[in-house]
Amino acid sequence: MTDKTLPFSQDQLEAIAAEVPTPFHIYDETAMRANARAFFDAFVWVPGGFINFYAIKALPNPHVIEGLKAEGMGGDCSSFGELKLCEAMGITGENIVFTSNDTPAYEFQEAARLGAIINLDDISHIPFLEESLGGTLPELVCCRYNPGPLKAGNVIIGKPEEAKYGFTREHLFEGYRMLRDKGVKRFGLHTMVASNELNPDYFVETAQMLFDLVVELNRELGIRFEIVNLGGGIGIPYRPEETAVDLAYVGAKIQEAYEATIVANDLGPVRIAMECGRMVTGPYGYLVGRVLHKKAIYKNYVGLDASMANLMRPGMYGSYHHVSVAGKESHDANPSPRKVYDVTGSLCENNDKFAIDREIADPEIGDLVVIHDSGAHGHSMGFNYNAKLRSAEVLWQSDGQWKVIRRAETLEDHFATLDYPGLG
Ligand SMILES: *Cc1c(COP(=O)(O)O)cnc(C)c1O
Repeated sequence: MTDKTLPFSQDQLEAIAAEVPTPFHIYDETAMRANARAFFDAFVWVPGGFINFYAIKALPNPHVIEGLKAEGMGGDCSSFGELKLCEAMGITGENIVFTSNDTPAYEFQEAARLGAIINLDDISHIPFLEESLGGTLPELVCCRYNPGPLKAGNVIIGKPEEAKYGFTREHLFEGYRMLRDKGVKRFGLHTMVASNELNPDYFVETAQMLFDLVVELNRELGIRFEIVNLGGGIGIPYRPEETAVDLAYVGAKIQEAYEATIVANDLGPVRIAMECGRMVTGPYGYLVGRVLHKKAIYKNYVGLDASMANLMRPGMYGSYHHVSVAGKESHDANPSPRKVYDVTGSLCENNDKFAIDREIADPEIGDLVVIHDSGAHGHSMGFNYNAKLRSAEVLWQSDGQWKVIRRAETLEDHFATLDYPGLG
């Protein structure tokens, strides 16, 4: 079970909404950083050191990532823009992992210029990378393993053999041989086979799979691995009846696997990395909108000033996001009766619904409605369909102070790329 009580009161949200137009996303910095510390604590035992490369795409706001950096996180990038964001924040060198998939040469060049750990997606990318870098390879190269039918799938990424990512087992052995023979001296091994996975044992099994490969690759090729990257994919309890992954348990179980496999084969120390994004910021973000309309036709609807353009996940994946009405929940002073609604936005798309047939505290027009767990793939997956403008982002700080960390887009911003009289 997960407590879905809001960390702010109705009055506090109204005070913010008096200055920042709704809808906006707000992020709870203190809670986020406490979770980051718990994450690192679960892996303090790692002899080579543990790092989480925060997956920038989850919430690419430098004012948030600064706090994560202060807790020791690096950045996981997959594009030129994400590399630039890291560079601006002073996240460089081996504090970046650049995971390519269908990557253009200029992105590899930029990653190499920053000294990032380059994580290759396919055996054919070895010569591509070499050519992109003018005939040389970085000293350290990492490869992404796709176990295919050797590992059971996960709901979002699907079956590994259907996933577009990574090297087959055969290509992995061939790839490292090629890298070794081309003079690469330092090696990393990576996989990412899950997304939004809540079963803690899944991550333990993933670690065991990679540790076993480190042993086999060492036997076959004589190479030693400096870094094993378990990828991201730790899920979050979007639903109140779900429970967060027990990080201490995952850390302790992975330690057992490390000792039984890496230490027992005298292949340590190995640095262990993860690339979690969702679990780092997801639960600490809230999309705040106001009720504009209520309608009762064949079903009952609550219409917000927020839409799928602010949070795409329910419309795109049918994902559950918890909905609270500020000040009207059962723990509030003036709770309202609960009633079943579809909670909608204003796009001309019938899947623009934050919740379907959901019992919520019955709101009135003008009430603030909060969509939970918007801190990952929320604002960052936003879009401008129907000429909707991207919202502001607000950081809620430790002492209840808050600041705007991204202003709302204006129509001028929106039209800026059009060269047309009266616009842009
Ligand atoms: C998206 C992504 C991640 C982060 O996944 P989460 O589910 O946010 O933890 C990590 N690594 C790679 C390569 C990714 O594409």
